[in-house]
Amino acid sequence: MNTLRAVLQDAQAKGDAVCHFNLSDLVLLKAVLAGARELDVPVVVGLSEGEREFVGTRAIGALVRSLREEFDFPIFLNADHTHSLAKGIEAAKAGFDAIVFDLSALPFEENVRQTKQAVEALKAIHPSMMVEGEIGDIGTGSEIHDAAPDLAKGLSSPEEAKQFVESTGVDILAPAVGNMHGMLRSMVRGETKKRLDIERIASIKRATGAFLTLHGGSGTDDDDLRRAIAAGIDIVHINTELRVAWRKGLEQGLAKMPEEVVPYKILPPAVEAVKQVVLSRLRLFNGKRRAA
Ligand SMILES: [Zn+2]
Repeated sequence: MNTLRAVLQDAQAKGDAVCHFNLSDLVLLKAVLAGARELDVPVVVGLSEGEREFVGTRAIGALVRSLREEFDFPIFLNADHTHSLAKGIEAAKAGFDAIVFDLSALPFEENVRQTKQAVEALKAIHPSMMVEGEIGDIGTGSEIHDAAPDLAKGLSSPEEAKQFVESTGVDILAPAVGNMHGMLRSMVRGETKKRLDIERIASIKRATGAFLTLHGGSGTDDDDLRRAIAAGIDIVHINTELRVAWRKGLEQGLAKMPEEVVPYKILPPAVEAVKQVVLSRLRLFNGKRRAA
């Protein structure tokens, strides 16, 4: 299984989902790879435009490819939430395996028109790159929010999902099904959970037959995640939960060694904290590991 498409088909056949973890530094990359290798399940790492700006698009392309070869391990790279064709072309040239071309903020017809153009342009550069399109409103920013935005009006319908997939030629669709980017403070404290519209997921799957991604998976009820995967979700994005763990682990490392200046001595608690979240999500999304 050396392509993301083959990995997604395999996961679909098993009733699993592939987890997509965002990263913006080596602590996160190290923790994700360690967790995935420990459970021996494929994984996707993704970087939004802001995360790529910080890490370097070509640099992360080369790094993930070299890790995949060195460990002979199915780790794939996604250009998350890309808002312009120019940024998409940069990622395609850097060898990214997938891209989320996100014009969901535009009116539907305009989203369709520009996403279709992007699918053609990106596949001309990198034919095996999988292109994901997005419809509906799931908010922005994998951060801690004080209040939930009103997403009820931005939910995706099976009709528009079908029209979008057929008109654009995307490989993967990211619908709005009750999910939301970021977490509320009460979710970070574990007092509340996001809930998903499972029926809507099932009807969108039936209408489109496309691979489906759930964005904003952090802070979601575990049982809803299991049911969402059974209803047709193929990829689950987790970002904010990793960021929360990263910060807590970093604070622990600094507190433990107030005089230390050596990064690789300070950072291991951050790697460990992130890895625990990675393991817990991968176990939930991968049935053979769930049973073990
Ligand atoms: Zn997202």
